Amino acid sequence: MKKKIIIISSILLLIPCVVVGISLFLKSPDVAKVETKSSKQETLPHQDQAPKKVPTKSKQKIAYLTIDDGPTKYLTEIVAALKKENVKATFFLVGNNITGDHKKEVKEAAEAGHSIGMHSMTHDSKKLYKKGQFIPEMKQESTLINGLLGKQIKLIRAPYGSTYLNSAQIKKVKEEKYRLLDWNIDSEDWRHKGQPQKIVASVKEQLDKFHKISPVILVHETEDTLKAIPGLIKAIREKGFEPMPYFEDNDFHMNFIKDAGL
Ligand SMILES: [Zn+2]
Repeated sequence: MKKKIIIISSILLLIPCVVVGISLFLKSPDVAKVETKSSKQETLPHQDQAPKKVPTKSKQKIAYLTIDDGPTKYLTEIVAALKKENVKATFFLVGNNITGDHKKEVKEAAEAGHSIGMHSMTHDSKKLYKKGQFIPEMKQESTLINGLLGKQIKLIRAPYGSTYLNSAQIKKVKEEKYRLLDWNIDSEDWRHKGQPQKIVASVKEQLDKFHKISPVILVHETEDTLKAIPGLIKAIREKGFEPMPYFEDNDFHMNFIKDAGL
């Protein structure tokens, strides 16, 4: 008899435990997760549609203005002209030019937010490509700029373009983890000497071809470029691009040999 009472009372005690247990299970986080998952799945078709509506307006078209062969006596004035337009550019510097006052000027350009890239020590095609000094010169310039800016720059531009590099040099460029940037718009400022308006017109015309990839515009650090800057920036913006500086961690790669590893 006593045994029966104990069994019945145990069963009676167990019932509320089971009920509480079931209700707790139903409210458990796992159940909640499943619920949100299924509600997310329901809204998926709407999320799929969203990107189709956005593209052209949300993605800003970017142009990179790159200024080669400095530092020269025009650097400070070019930086000031760019500041007036609220634009940051990319300067590919020749190491042997970074002397005297230019050291301070390069530092100021970097501090103003412009990107500084390496363009070899000598810019001498014989030394760089025939005598194989490309990598040693980049390393030497890297040390020089590091001493100036306190950071190691990995951005390089090959004088006359990356097509001059042989396969061993390309391999080395990758080993050194350099980012190599060529250009896809040549302003032909060398052809339009003393005619800054022609430099602007040349760039403006070429910008029309760029719909999918960013234009990388090549000009040189000269008086003509200094005079052309307001017109250049106006043309770039009129064509729907915003000028930005190019840094080595950019997702966008641009080189003549179409190597994504450069
Ligand atoms: Zn150059």
